[in-house]
Amino acid sequence: MRTPLVAGNWKMHKTPSEARVWFNEFLDELGAVPPGVEVAVLPSFPLLPVAAEELAGSGVAFGAQDVSAHTWGAYTGEVAALQVADLGARYAVVGHSERRRYWQESSELVAAKTARALEAGLTPILCVGEPLEARERGEAEGFVLDQLRRSLQGVEPAGPDRLVVAYEPVWAIGTGRTATPNDAEAMAMAIREELAARYGAAFAERVRVLYGGSIKPENFAAILARPNVDGGLVGGASLEVASFLTLVRLAVGL
Ligand code: PEP
Repeated sequence: MRTPLVAGNWKMHKTPSEARVWFNEFLDELGAVPPGVEVAVLPSFPLLPVAAEELAGSGVAFGAQDVSAHTWGAYTGEVAALQVADLGARYAVVGHSERRRYWQESSELVAAKTARALEAGLTPILCVGEPLEARERGEAEGFVLDQLRRSLQGVEPAGPDRLVVAYEPVWAIGTGRTATPNDAEAMAMAIREELAARYGAAFAERVRVLYGGSIKPENFAAILARPNVDGGLVGGASLEVASFLTLVRLAVGL
């Protein structure tokens, strides 16, 4: 039994004071985190101390959108996984398609970031996803599994609860286009099979595989209903308290 995870990726939005207002409103509306679902918020780095303060004791987790591939050192502008972990974060996104695309992050670099996140005690949310051309050529699965294999090169999570994989087709992120529930399920299943080949069946059975890409209250339930999809990585719809709350409620009791 895998507990669904609903994780909000705020990207480069909100000031620290806006984040404080969001957290307060969200916790007021949510009450307690309902049993049977895990909720996480992934704000940009300067908002993490605010998340740590406002979410303390609430049961809502938080994490970073990226971490450095280096442990420590003279890497101006970088943020170490250990710094993020020390704030009380649980997660770190690695390999988001925006970083792969705009900063040319390779899967080899993503594997190093994944390893640093694990060493720091964080759970990486490893993003993989195909561009539109790969899907149109019928090569989506091969593309994603190759990306997954290379992004996990040398990575040995201590257990299945220490890795989350997010399938995010590039053409669905921030575009309003969503994968069909069947396509999301087929890719989540292929990812799980690859994880089974890599880490064993018992591990793969317990790893959460999320879908991400233009999730909204109107399309989330059908995707979540698929057996291999264990929640969502949500961008735009996590910025407003009301829509994120609706997504969390849809995931309860899966
Ligand atoms: C994301 O940023 O991971 C994402 C899926 O964004 P959106 O929901 O806005 O498509």
